[in-house]
Amino acid sequence: MQRLLIVSNRLPLTIQERKGDLHVELSVGGLATGLSSWYKSCHSIWIGWAGIGRKKIKEETDIVARLLSENCYPVSLSQYNVEAYYHGFCNRTIWPLFHYFPLYAEYSEDFWQAYERVNTAFANVVAEVAKPNDIIWIHDYHLMLLPKLLRERLPKATVGFFLHIPFPSFEIFRLLPWRKQILEGLLGADLVGFHTYDYTGHFLDSVHRLLGYEVAMGQITAADRVVRSDAFPMGINYEQFSSAAQDPKVQKERKRFHKKLGDCQVILSVDRLDYTKGIPQRLRAFSVFLNRNPKFKRKVIFILLVVPSRTGVERYMQLKKQVDGLVGEINGKHGTIGWMPVWYLYRFLPFHSLAALYSLADVALVTPLRDGMNLVAKEYTATKTDGKGVLILSETAGSAQELGEAIIINANNQEEIAQALAKALEMPEQEQIERNRIMQKRLRRYNVVRWANEFVDKLLSTKKLQREMEEKALTYEMQRKLASDFQESDKALLLLDYDGTLVPFSPKPAEAMPGAKLLRLLERLTKNPRTEVVLISGRDKDTLEKWFGGLNVGLVAEHGAWIKEKGGGWETIETLTSEWKEEVYPILESWVDRTPGSFIEEKEFSLVWHYRKADPSLGELRARELINNLSNTIANLNLQVLEGSKVVEVKNTDINKGRAALIWISREKWDFVLAIGDDWTDEDTFKALPSTAWSIKVGFGASAARFSLSSPSKATSLLRKMVGGKM
Ligand code: UDP
Repeated sequence: MQRLLIVSNRLPLTIQERKGDLHVELSVGGLATGLSSWYKSCHSIWIGWAGIGRKKIKEETDIVARLLSENCYPVSLSQYNVEAYYHGFCNRTIWPLFHYFPLYAEYSEDFWQAYERVNTAFANVVAEVAKPNDIIWIHDYHLMLLPKLLRERLPKATVGFFLHIPFPSFEIFRLLPWRKQILEGLLGADLVGFHTYDYTGHFLDSVHRLLGYEVAMGQITAADRVVRSDAFPMGINYEQFSSAAQDPKVQKERKRFHKKLGDCQVILSVDRLDYTKGIPQRLRAFSVFLNRNPKFKRKVIFILLVVPSRTGVERYMQLKKQVDGLVGEINGKHGTIGWMPVWYLYRFLPFHSLAALYSLADVALVTPLRDGMNLVAKEYTATKTDGKGVLILSETAGSAQELGEAIIINANNQEEIAQALAKALEMPEQEQIERNRIMQKRLRRYNVVRWANEFVDKLLSTKKLQREMEEKALTYEMQRKLASDFQESDKALLLLDYDGTLVPFSPKPAEAMPGAKLLRLLERLTKNPRTEVVLISGRDKDTLEKWFGGLNVGLVAEHGAWIKEKGGGWETIETLTSEWKEEVYPILESWVDRTPGSFIEEKEFSLVWHYRKADPSLGELRARELINNLSNTIANLNLQVLEGSKVVEVKNTDINKGRAALIWISREKWDFVLAIGDDWTDEDTFKALPSTAWSIKVGFGASAARFSLSSPSKATSLLRKMVGGKM
């Protein structure tokens, strides 16, 4: 079994100093609590800072032994480094910038150097602990240089990185003086994960624009290897929250709160004290709500739970003052004897108290100005096992992308929040239940364990892909051999796919038209009477006729449904039959779950997954994944998967490119056969080839082709070489 090394700024255990003695305690915070049960169930080790200085850790061998017995390896950091790296670069540069507060970001060379030093210290510990087969999973913005530093020390390592905060759009990210170093640091990983598809898109955009790497469908062709990036929305421990209402400790706490609250409806908000959470804006919106809806006075209580955070930092102290002031102002303005509209708790609550608040709150008001995910929104929804309760959630929280049945608001729009509050407090029970049930179903399925497993699975599949690529890459020497074999042949057959093979894949049909240079190349290839060129495409015959009708080539349209011999007319080959749907349907269903807006169409002889209503880029990415997944599942089912315009179609193998290719392959005794293609529809061509043929997949991924080339431009330069031109 492979070991998993989790690396994060803090260990799940923290060493606390009290009255001169050191104690080991559980760390608080989303990652530590979310992952700790899963991490214990795997064969894992956690590496991170334990919360005390370097000198202490050397002296306290007992404490270190205790950490090691829990599979926790401490990284020791000097006080100065913690100050400049954690309180400096992490919290005063990256945190504000990545949360769209560029004016709060401080750019200090000292902070940056400390960040480099600490990342190097982490790299040294990880390199010491890691064994060749380990999976290394690095977490969050504190360690963005670590993937590259590890890659230098352990070139073959399996390294994943997950960012728990937003990745900002290019226009914000580019403000960072060390932006390239950060991107290069991240690209040391094999897989870079984010909470949402938007963050993934921003990251890929920045990689493309700042480093110039080719980016397609979540895949980055970096200098020496392919790196993947994708969205994995972090889940919660669903069982823990959904069973909380039955917990006697939670019930007792709930009763205690209830007594004090009387018959008032309860609005709840829970956050760390942070300027990203929009607490002052929320309080102002609550005041607007009371102004607009006096009938709710004395009928509702807003419990504002604020957890102290970064307490010594000036900006946070100012925020605290502002929140204190606003609470006083609202209570003074709207309150009456016997009714205080805002109940303000400034502390950290343990699980059972928090769960009691979740379970009794009629409304959760979650309005961050910007939040990577926001687990509170998910936890509140999961706790509502009777289905009653309304979530108001700002669109700038990552979780809003999954919790679309909440009332979604703009956190800066006080009128909208005030209206949402009135709507939530008056929402019919049936509607509350309907909305919550849909969200709960999603949260139950995509819980924290599934999140972690999906990330690790994708990381391993990326590693597999890299290995396959390395083994199959058509080297320069092999290209010369291929060209000379071709030039010496008497009868050569070239079977060429078009989209993604001779031109980059483009979702916009007009952009995929062959240019004059490509048409000249094809013409040169067909000049030699000993060479037969066949273009085998999924496109319709009219398009192929329009683009290539003037060339002396064979044409295959619609994945083999239509063929046209050189100089002949279009002919169809037989139609299809099939039966197999029970096995394939559930797979397509799980893709519908993961891709909002997509749906399944059932035809007599095929199943079609449509994604034209989904986010266009997410749809493209998920389509690729679906094709990969289906190709494994259907291996023995006599089926094929076809990718069309915003659809993935599964049908039987009676019609495919391979069958069409055979018409040419079996006609002559060729002494040179070359097939080039880029996607699954070309696999049938590869499989139909004689064993002596050259087969090349353009791009990366499992394939029956013997070789691979990284891009369409590499494929056309090979063809150019074959006709005697420069590669
Ligand atoms: N939390 C808690 N006690 C409290 C307040 C919050 O245990 O008094 C937990 C809460 O259950 C959640 C986490 O703190 O899991 C906050 O995570 P979130 O993603 O909402 O915000 P973050 O603090 O990570 O920005």
